Amino acid sequence: MIGSLLQRWRARRERQLLDQFAIPDALWALTLAQYPFIARRSEADRTELRRLCSLFLASKEFHGAGGFEVTDEVAVAVAAQACLPVLKLGLSWYDGFVGIVMHEGEVVAARETMDEDGVVHEYDETLAGEAMEGGPLMLAWSEIAPEATERVEGHDPVYNVVIHEFAHVLDMRDGEPDGAPPIDDPTVRLQWSATMEAEWHWFCDQVDAGHATLIDPYGAEAPEEFFAVAVEAFFVAPRELLGEQPRLYRLLAGFFRQDPAGD
Ligand SMILES: [Zn+2]
Repeated sequence: MIGSLLQRWRARRERQLLDQFAIPDALWALTLAQYPFIARRSEADRTELRRLCSLFLASKEFHGAGGFEVTDEVAVAVAAQACLPVLKLGLSWYDGFVGIVMHEGEVVAARETMDEDGVVHEYDETLAGEAMEGGPLMLAWSEIAPEATERVEGHDPVYNVVIHEFAHVLDMRDGEPDGAPPIDDPTVRLQWSATMEAEWHWFCDQVDAGHATLIDPYGAEAPEEFFAVAVEAFFVAPRELLGEQPRLYRLLAGFFRQDPAGD
């Protein structure tokens, strides 16, 4: 009895939020026009994505840093790309954080590292986005605006900062980023590490040899970066990824429960 009351209350609350945060038709059409990899999805996927976007906007807090104004257009552009990876997994994967800090341009962060001899080195790092355990998430609009994500198919590597940072969020759901999101089934987990390792090594060889890759060469840095850039390619250029690294494509398709190359 209590269970069903709770369910009804939740359903009612969700309907209220969907009403309150409904995305106007014109704005949704604009977002699809600006991000063709979203527009290419089936009508059923786009409808579900629009619903998730409203719930995402209802549960996250956007902050503009340094006078940057987070317009509805900016917020929906972020929401649509962020929700695509969890289309079949559910928004609860993003429960671990609330705040999204948006900057107009890239952010220079002062960093320190200690080398093997205990000497501390200071350097500046330029960031297009950053995901931290427990949030908030940082994004630079200049790097995620439609003009920044345009690419020549079959030529440029994929560059999508929003999907990249949200892939890190999925990875960090079970702690430090390691290139693997939490996977319950031990068999699938083993399959994941074996496939990822082989695909990463193949990819690093291509990058080392100076060959062009669909996946951003930045992925050669570390397994967790490879996961993030592979997820970018999976959603932005699924057919190309299926052609270039089919085993990687199938692994990601299994995890995300989506087949964007086949839809
Ligand atoms: Zn990264």
